[in-house]
Amino acid sequence: MDSRVKRGAGRVPPPGITAMVPCYNEIDCVERAYREIRAELARYDDVELLFVDDGSTDGTLDAIKGFAAEDSRVKYISFARNFGLEAAFSAGFKYASKPWTVQFDADLQSPPHEMHRLVDKALEGYDVVFAVRENRQDPWHRRLGTWAHQTIARRWLGIELPQGASVFRIVRTSVAHKVVDSRLSTPYFIATAPLLGARYTTLPTAHQPRLDGQGKWNLRKLFSHAVELFFGFSFRPLTWLVGLSGVVMAAGTAVLALALTGRLGPTAIELAGLVAVLVALALLMVVARYLVRVMRVQAIGVPRYQIREANIPIRAAEALYGYETPDVSGHFREPEVWEDAS
Ligand code: UDP
Ligand code: MG
Repeated sequence: MDSRVKRGAGRVPPPGITAMVPCYNEIDCVERAYREIRAELARYDDVELLFVDDGSTDGTLDAIKGFAAEDSRVKYISFARNFGLEAAFSAGFKYASKPWTVQFDADLQSPPHEMHRLVDKALEGYDVVFAVRENRQDPWHRRLGTWAHQTIARRWLGIELPQGASVFRIVRTSVAHKVVDSRLSTPYFIATAPLLGARYTTLPTAHQPRLDGQGKWNLRKLFSHAVELFFGFSFRPLTWLVGLSGVVMAAGTAVLALALTGRLGPTAIELAGLVAVLVALALLMVVARYLVRVMRVQAIGVPRYQIREANIPIRAAEALYGYETPDVSGHFREPEVWEDAS
């Protein structure tokens, strides 16, 4: 029998779980998140907690260091600045050391006590199980935005993704590595995992309002996230506009012929010109988006993030100060700064 398949009443114990928590200025939430995640992890033997501090400036890192001091299963990496959630979870997946990784939100919007349901589902034979928020407790424009951009992506642009998937998810860590390392400028995780052939499913889970503090998504970030999906995973916008340009060119030639033979008035000619300019501008915008995408992928050698501090070994290329291993105290620290005596 496949060891991943759940057997009768006795649950197959998972081989090991990394609980990964990206944090950006979460001083109001991180303590409670730590306690609740730790309580849920008590169901399992082989676990670690991996906090990814995404350049917080509010003392979140100090709080995490406090947890590490009381619990040796707590690991952390801390970015040199804020690199964004995608960079944070990419690093988390990369440095997770257990075979399964569960991604949490520090603000506890997806309750940690739902984790074991994700684990059980994964053990039925999936590489990824995405939580879908039941009664999502976010402002209406966030809910509408997610639904609209995912629906456009799936229905119109032919992009495969699990509708409504949130970042609360369990992922086979080896598969997560593939997603993070794939040659895409940012790992739009929910679209990349299906592209690679990962076996995935969704599971409805509870959702609650943010515990405290502020959400980090503004309109600009949400818009660029949607654009990333549309232009990173589909060529249909380009195909459509090239087709439309062909139609406009043919119509333009007809307008020109009619104008030369004096059968069109100046207003009609001006309107036809305006339509042609608008289509040309739309095409230019779309081509520019793809160009930006290509340039980002070209820059793949540039790391997505830089790590300033950690209590685990870090790859030299990703460590701002170039250190590969922690010092004798087990910590990967920033170098001491010497005052200039003169
Ligand atoms: N986060 C992060 N870097 C960022 C923004 C957010 O690591 O630049 C973390 C944040 O601390 C939280 C999670 O990502 O743990 C989700 O963020 P948020 O609650 O702002 O997103 P929302 O729930 O509104 O989608
Ligand atoms: Mg949140």
